[in-house]
Amino acid sequence: MKKLILFIGTPLLLIIIAGAALYNTAGGQDFLIERLAKLGASQKAIDPEGLNVIVCGSASPLGNDPNRAQACIAVVTPEHFFLFDIGDRAPLRIAQGRLPVARLNGIFLTHFHSDHIAGVPSVNMNSWIQGRDSELKVYGPQGVETVVSGFNTAYQLDKTYRTAHHGADLLPAATAAMNPITLTPGVAFQDANIKITAFPVDHAPIDPAMGYRIDYKGRSVVISGDTVSTESLFIAAKGADLLLHDALSEPALAAVIAAIKASGNDRTAAIVSDVHDYHAHSTNLEAQSKKAGIKQLAFYHFVPVPTMPLIEKLFKRGISDDVILTKDLMTFQMLPNSEEIIVTEP
Ligand SMILES: [Zn+2]
Ligand SMILES: [Zn+2]
Repeated sequence: MKKLILFIGTPLLLIIIAGAALYNTAGGQDFLIERLAKLGASQKAIDPEGLNVIVCGSASPLGNDPNRAQACIAVVTPEHFFLFDIGDRAPLRIAQGRLPVARLNGIFLTHFHSDHIAGVPSVNMNSWIQGRDSELKVYGPQGVETVVSGFNTAYQLDKTYRTAHHGADLLPAATAAMNPITLTPGVAFQDANIKITAFPVDHAPIDPAMGYRIDYKGRSVVISGDTVSTESLFIAAKGADLLLHDALSEPALAAVIAAIKASGNDRTAAIVSDVHDYHAHSTNLEAQSKKAGIKQLAFYHFVPVPTMPLIEKLFKRGISDDVILTKDLMTFQMLPNSEEIIVTEP
């Protein structure tokens, strides 16, 4: 036994000593960083086939989980890249998912709560630096021009600094800004392969608020944005392959409110209680989804954020295992001429 330990232990010991020498000497550190930098620089943006939906943010503002960014859904095809809302922390997920920001075609906003727009200027700037060749179009309901012109103003000096520093050939000022496009319900964007349709949702008192349906080569996804369970959405989503819907867990939210009240913070308890009636309750979606012929229902924008597996169980209460609780960087791939939805966990 002693011999065996000696036999296994000696090479392991040598590896540990060699590793420590690499990590703790200037020459070793230079060797390691050179290789790691090469590995990082060789990573290319994803370029998948078919209609791909990537969750770049699954959280609402209620609850902090570093593993969940606020609302963000990416739609990537070989010809298109669109983002639907970009909340706080979502720019990091977009980078981690190696989404192709240099060819970002546009951002669609569902409404203008901060958890849906906070990451917009950061993604715009990164896309410009990566080589986007025109102003970025930002689509949204009435009010989008106020949001976009505010971001453009806030980033005006940053743009000037970068163009002056790197030169107008690399970073032309003319392509740095965002261009707002105000939508009304109906077809918002269409080309030979893709159609994006905006429809009204019910996030009262926030009005207007929109959801979007994306159809690509016979496959489709619907993104709810923030809404209660509403008939207009299920009419728009009829027969879709995938529905990503915001979801509120009544028992989880009730526990959060009770805990805040018990701590004596009545002000915050009152604010959180107001959230009750403007998101869809998790138990109200599956039957309607089945009735509308939707093949896969998945929840995102969790209220509250499932910061522990117990809260995920509460979201699952009263619904079947067919419903997916999304995570950041979960992907759904839908190939043309297929019925299958390939779900990849992060
Ligand atoms: Zn909202
Ligand atoms: Zn929200």
